[in-house]
Formats: sequence, structure tokens, C-alpha cells
Amino acid sequence: MILVTGGAGYIGSHACIELLNAGEDVVVLDNFCNSNPASLDRVQEICGKPLVVVEGDIREQAAVEKLIIEHGCTAVLHFAGLKSVQDSVARPLEYYDYNVIGSHRLLRAMENTGVKKLIFSSSATVYGKPQFLPYTEDHPLNAINPYGRTKLTIEDMLRDQYVGDPTWSIGILRYFNPVGAHESGLIGEDPRGVPNNLVPFVAQVAIGRRDRLNVWGNDYDTPDGTGVRDYIHVMDLAAGHVSALKLLDTPRCFAVNLGTGAGSSVLEVVRAFEAASGKHIPYDVKPRRPGDIDAYYAATDYALRLMGWKATRTIEMMCSDHWRWQSSNPNGYG
Ligand code: NAD
Ligand code: UDP
Repeated sequence: MILVTGGAGYIGSHACIELLNAGEDVVVLDNFCNSNPASLDRVQEICGKPLVVVEGDIREQAAVEKLIIEHGCTAVLHFAGLKSVQDSVARPLEYYDYNVIGSHRLLRAMENTGVKKLIFSSSATVYGKPQFLPYTEDHPLNAINPYGRTKLTIEDMLRDQYVGDPTWSIGILRYFNPVGAHESGLIGEDPRGVPNNLVPFVAQVAIGRRDRLNVWGNDYDTPDGTGVRDYIHVMDLAAGHVSALKLLDTPRCFAVNLGTGAGSSVLEVVRAFEAASGKHIPYDVKPRRPGDIDAYYAATDYALRLMGWKATRTIEMMCSDHWRWQSSNPNGYG
């Protein structure tokens, strides 16, 4: 039985599909602070298999221990946490509480119940300002905002835990920019309030929930002047978790990038989304967003060497799958 924390969320729900399809049994622990339990009904509909859903908080250590014992969990995929850079600047204590303290309590619960296999959702944001590109896994780590620092703190805690007890097996997955949705269009990203991220915002312009996109800067040192990111299809990302889980039978601690290795600019994404949706996306160029980096993308050879995994879906597929979800669920799960 695999414990999936935050399994009702955007990435966790897609990972549940891959886990169920790989024949794993799944128990999701989620407090639904940023998700809707309907996502998990739809996961079960897609897979034709049940999973166990427990409403609860990773910071409730005793309850987590009870859950692990009751369900006989042998490994944990840990997605639960808060994820907005902007929000983390405004509410840093909340981010340290949910992310750092939450992960610490979860690790304690695992230690007390003898579960030593963990996959952790980290982020490319731990690399900070690029000293070279693509980011290889040994690029210096230098998070530049509170959200990134919580991820880096958790990574450090995990590396320390492995040194203290090398019978643990820990996979740290550094995600680049997840977009898209399961090809059924039944599940996808459902941001609360105004989306901060590019693709969910563009999708809401396409569906008519927002008037125009603001392009944050067109004077970056990139081919068309707009920011470049490594967008990765959420189903490729989900598959990466199943590949990583297979490695946990041997004690180890590794950190690996999950990206495609290729960057797309804001305007390239807008054009790909227009082609996928058949909708015009009007936009205005606005000043740079504070803290934004010109461009970054992943080195992908270590993921291939280590896990035999690589992303296969194109930016066109990301946009058309994202659009299928958005157009068949104009208001998300609500
Ligand atoms: P999400 O907000 O959709 O999912 C997170 C889930 O965790 C939600 O269902 C939320 O209700 C749950 N949760 C939060 N705090 C909890 C707690 N204390 N106890 C129990 N459940 C809790 O986010 P996502 O996009 O699916 O991201 C999943 C993970 O991946 C996060 O850790 C995030 O930081 C990381 N990540 C995301 C991105 C991205 O762009 N989406 C990029 C890099 C890393
Ligand atoms: N971006 C934009 N308008 C938006 C949201 C994002 O121009 O409404 C740009 C942003 O400046 C960056 C890229 O799109 O260059 C990706 O931003 P996102 O927030 O999705 O990811 P992150 O910057 O966290 O990698």
C-alpha cells in the first residue's frame, strides 16, 4: 500500500492514476486545503479501481502513524504542501508550517512505524539564479524565495536523515513546470482564485473567464524577449514517480530533475495554446514580475540513466490536453 499525501491535488491525482495502473494499492491523505475530493472520484472512474481516501493533515503525526499502521503502508509519495511563490512571500510562516513542519512530522511518523521509502516533490526553484544551463542536479542550490527555501530545507532534512540512517530510501524529484492534464479531460489543474501560473491563466482566457493575459516582460535575454521555462506534461511527470518508486527497493538517496530539457517562451506557449484551442488569446506586455528569471530548463540525462525515464509529450500535447480539461470543465471541479 502506497501512502500519497496531497493526492487530491493537481500532480498527486495524476500520479494516483499511474500508481493504480501500475497495480499499486493507494491511500490518499489530504486536507483538501487546495483541492476537491471530486478529483479522486474521477481518478477511480478513469482507472476502474478503488483507492482509499482519508481526510487529514500531515502535521497530525499521531493520526498519520495510525493511518500507516491501519493500511499497512510500505512507501510514501509526498505531494502535500503549499506551492505559490507569491503567496509564500506574503505568508512565510504558513509555508514553513505546512511544508517544513509538515514534512518533519510525516518523517517522524514514518520513522516510528518503520516505513523508510519516500518520494518527495521538490522543485527546480531550489537551483535559484542559473550559474549555467541546463540545470544539472549538481548545480549549486540557492533558493531565492520563501517557497523555494522550504523545499531546500526539506531536501536538506532528507539528505541528513539518510546520512543518519542509511537504511532509508529517498527520491527527491525536482519538477520543472508541470502543465496539461490526463487525456480523458476528467481531471486537471483547478487553481483557486486568479492563477499565478502561465498555462492555467491562458486556459482561463481561452474559456472566457479572464479577458486578457499579462505577459510579464518582453525584454529578457531570450530569443523573443519573453521568459523561457521547461514545461512538462503532468502525465510524464506522474510516470516519473512510478519509475522513481521502483528504485526504492535499495537504500539510497537521490535528487533528480523531471523536465523535458527544452524551453518554451511565453509567446510560444500562447501560440501553441491558440492552435490547440482554436481561441485567440489577447495579451498585453507588462513590466517584469519581481524575482523572475530569464530562462531555465532541465538537464535530463541523469533521469534517463538512473530511472530509464524521459518525458515524451510535446508542448502541443500539453496544450491540447489542458484545453480538453478546461473546456469540458469550465469551472474546474466546482
Ligand atoms: P496542489 O496544491 O494541487 O496539491 C497539493 C495537495 O496537498 C492539495 O490537495 C492540498 O489540499 C494538499 N495539502 C496541502 N497541505 C496539506 C497538509 N498539511 N496535509 C494534507 N494535505 C495537504 O499542488 P500540486 O501542483 O499538485 O503540487 C504538488 C507538490 O508538488 C507540492 O509539494 C508542490 O510544492 C510541488 N511542486 C509543484 C509544482 C507545480 O508547478 N505545480 C512545481 C514544483 C513542485
Ligand atoms: N507569465 C506571464 N504571465 C502570467 C503568468 C506567467 O507572462 O500571467 C510568465 C512568467 O513571467 C514566466 C513564465 O510565464 O516567464 C512561467 O511562469 P509560471 O508562473 O507559470 O512559472 P514559474 O515562473 O514559476 O516557473
